[in-house]
Amino acid sequence: MFNLILFGPPGSGKGTQSEKLIAKYGLKHLSTGDLLRSEIANQTPLGLEAKSFMDKGQLVPDEVVIGMISSALDNNPEAKGFLFDGFPRTSAQAQALDNLLDLKKTGIAVMLALEVTEEELVKRLLKRGETSGRSDDNNETVIKARITEYHNKTAPVADYYKNFEKVALVKGEGSIDDIFGRLCEEINARAIAVN
Ligand code: ADP
Repeated sequence: MFNLILFGPPGSGKGTQSEKLIAKYGLKHLSTGDLLRSEIANQTPLGLEAKSFMDKGQLVPDEVVIGMISSALDNNPEAKGFLFDGFPRTSAQAQALDNLLDLKKTGIAVMLALEVTEEELVKRLLKRGETSGRSDDNNETVIKARITEYHNKTAPVADYYKNFEKVALVKGEGSIDDIFGRLCEEINARAIAVN
């Protein structure tokens, strides 16, 4: 299996690049943001709980997202690899993911970390908010809260994987295709298992 984490602050382009990466490498896309929004759309109890955090720009509790990822792994036994998008977002989530992958006798091959300036992030998120219908994208206070959560809780996740020399920093500015090219270079440099 080849499992990778696409990492970066809100608005760094994880969703856009994930779509291109799964198409090229045949990975199963697991986005906790998408999974949570689908729970909200279906008005499940989990969705209702998650919504109250997401609307404020706060992270959803670890046990909720870890449970979702655990089920998603179990539900895709045939996957040849996973692309984790928006997960793990805390050190506890990173440890839980390692444990879950250990049980499946696999692990994370690489964390690709997109780097984008804060000014550019806010600009992109406000622009996305004009069309995405995402209530967390059209309010600058909520956007700032998400970026603060990222700095406090999520940025340390990169340090966790740095300990295992698994982090590749990738410039997340420029054209979509240029960024995609940079990501592919990093994958191809490591991916003996990708065909
Ligand atoms: P973005 O990367 O633009 O913030 P996402 O769709 O990844 O968009 O996440 C939207 C919101 O969903 C987050 O602000 C957070 O509230 C919640 N969320 C998504 N993934 C996680 C996670 N792994 N842990 C906790 N909360 C999460």
